[in-house]
Amino acid sequence: TDKQLYSQRVIREIMDDNKLHFKKSLGQNFLTDLNILQKIVAAADVTKESTVIEIGPGIGTLTQQLANAAGQVIAIELDQRFLPILNENFWDQDHVSIIHGDALTVDLHQIIKEQVKFPTIHVVANLPYYVTTPILMKLLEEHLPLTNIVVMIQKEVAQRIQAQPGTKEYGALSIAAQYYAKPEIVCIVPKTVFIPEPNVDSAVIRLSIYEEPKVKVFSEEIFFAAIKAGFANRRKTLWNNFKGFRNDIVPEQIRAIFEKASIDEKRRGETLSIEEYAVLSNEIHHFIE
Ligand code: SAM
Repeated sequence: TDKQLYSQRVIREIMDDNKLHFKKSLGQNFLTDLNILQKIVAAADVTKESTVIEIGPGIGTLTQQLANAAGQVIAIELDQRFLPILNENFWDQDHVSIIHGDALTVDLHQIIKEQVKFPTIHVVANLPYYVTTPILMKLLEEHLPLTNIVVMIQKEVAQRIQAQPGTKEYGALSIAAQYYAKPEIVCIVPKTVFIPEPNVDSAVIRLSIYEEPKVKVFSEEIFFAAIKAGFANRRKTLWNNFKGFRNDIVPEQIRAIFEKASIDEKRRGETLSIEEYAVLSNEIHHFIE
């Protein structure tokens, strides 16, 4: 299409012509600001030699900008109602394909194996806010061959992802994200650039994926369990949060593990760096094996 899909007038026209309303339950807040759209595309370093996987294209506002910059765009939309609109808007763009599916359950490894044309792969999206964290965790945990993930998300979630030890935003999500990727907030985005306006401010965040996770852990399962335990009760000391960690480790042995890890058990979980969680989980692993 040669319509400008970021224009408020065009978006309303398309919605009206198709007798559609925005579904709040699906996080449908469409972008209406060309400047922000271009910032998102630029932050991802998309080129004609790269493939972009987009989650939640809606009527194709961001898709249109991605299609200008990328060698290939694969857009995954859950809401069936947008499929005919997307197909019409991009019918003449052979490098854009639309998949009807749920980003949470779709087999991304298979899509990458069967459809992706370029070795450099990005995920770029204005994410539906009701599933931001599960979608991001899926993208990270599945060890997909991604260069980066650039997404619009709630400002608070972006700040938690980027947070450092000892701050109130720092938590399990910060460590999980920082284990797989280097996070950077690209820009803060006001509510006013969306229709309809969401309730919260947003941010664009770039996650540059590491070739190898940031720290070496012997068991990811124990690493993530230790993080969960460390933040189980923020007011409690590590000792209190860990003394019942596993029933095959008695409290006295937990004390010994902290000593071996050179971590003071009287500290609180929110003060531990990702490296310290790695050391701690490796000592636990070593004890169990
Ligand atoms: N990309 C458009 C834009 O920037 O204007 C729309 C973004 S809107 C915030 C989120 C989109 O994700 C909606 O089109 C919604 O239908 C879609 N969506 C919601 N849940 C989804 C899911 N689980 N999988 C794929 N798409 C989803």
